Amino acid sequence: MKVADLKKAGSAWPTLSSSAGQPAGESDTALLSDAAFLSVRAIGKTYASRGSDPHEAIREISFDAREREFVCIVGPSGAGKTTLLRCLAGLLEPTKGSVHLGKRQVTAPPPEVAVVFQDYSRSLFPWLTVAGNVGLPLKAKRLPRAERTKLVTESLSAVNLDGTGHRYPWQLSGGMQQRVAIARALAYQPKLLLMDEPFASVDAQTRFELEDLVLRVREEFGMSIVFVTHDIDEAVYLGDRIIALSKSPCVVTRDLPIDLGPARNQLETRADPRFTKLRTEVLKLVTGQSAPAASAAGAGH
Ligand code: ADP
Ligand code: MG
Repeated sequence: MKVADLKKAGSAWPTLSSSAGQPAGESDTALLSDAAFLSVRAIGKTYASRGSDPHEAIREISFDAREREFVCIVGPSGAGKTTLLRCLAGLLEPTKGSVHLGKRQVTAPPPEVAVVFQDYSRSLFPWLTVAGNVGLPLKAKRLPRAERTKLVTESLSAVNLDGTGHRYPWQLSGGMQQRVAIARALAYQPKLLLMDEPFASVDAQTRFELEDLVLRVREEFGMSIVFVTHDIDEAVYLGDRIIALSKSPCVVTRDLPIDLGPARNQLETRADPRFTKLRTEVLKLVTGQSAPAASAAGAGH
């Protein structure tokens, strides 16, 4: 399916259960509710290291995400956010628990998932042009050249980078480079987009633009997004839901719906009294000034 088609029919993507790929996990159907698209069940991660003590990064995390939902994960630096995202992406094996996408257990990077990392300068290849970078993962999908070219052009256009395909990443500003990384993810046609503090290294103005860009592509392309950030304002501005993490080894301290409606505006939304109330609530959770709700700690919603 082409990017243009996806724009028209976000929810009409091929279902995971019908696509070829990994075998289903043993207990998959029993674990899933009908609405769950991404299902994270009691995962924990302890890093084993030779010569020193094992390091427990994640104690226990459970949550679900629905199709087209924008879930923000907030937690202090070192909480285990990147570790969690790598487990969701199938890049890291949890020590315990499971991650399911649809009915399939994630045991390797699934073809329906794209990741945008924090460090864009290291995630783009300097010897490849912008178009070469965006098109690279499509080669693994074995798409015909004409199809790849079309996807690259349309994805660059979606992030307002028309006509930059022939340039090199190092000829672009930081904000433009991060947009190339987002275009690369879009060209891959993910059903789930994972983003790890993607705007942490750009200036405030560019950050606002990129936040609105991500909201727009979610609307146009209809994928689910799990967005990790330590910036509470950013999480409240972007999310349909916020999952707050404790400090490492992390657990879920709260799974909080954000009732600001689908349309967000940098000036109006941030001035909304509900925004201020929510950010104070999340700030208290993240800084540990608010006791975790007993029923929410370590549990999904
Ligand atoms: P965050 O993204 O929230 O800042 P991370 O997931 O990067 O947190 O790290 C969580 C904890 O796990 C930190 O204490 C970090 O030092 C540790 N950690 C991360 N990666 C590794 C690794 N490969 N080996 C051992 N410890 C690690
Ligand atoms: Mg991190």
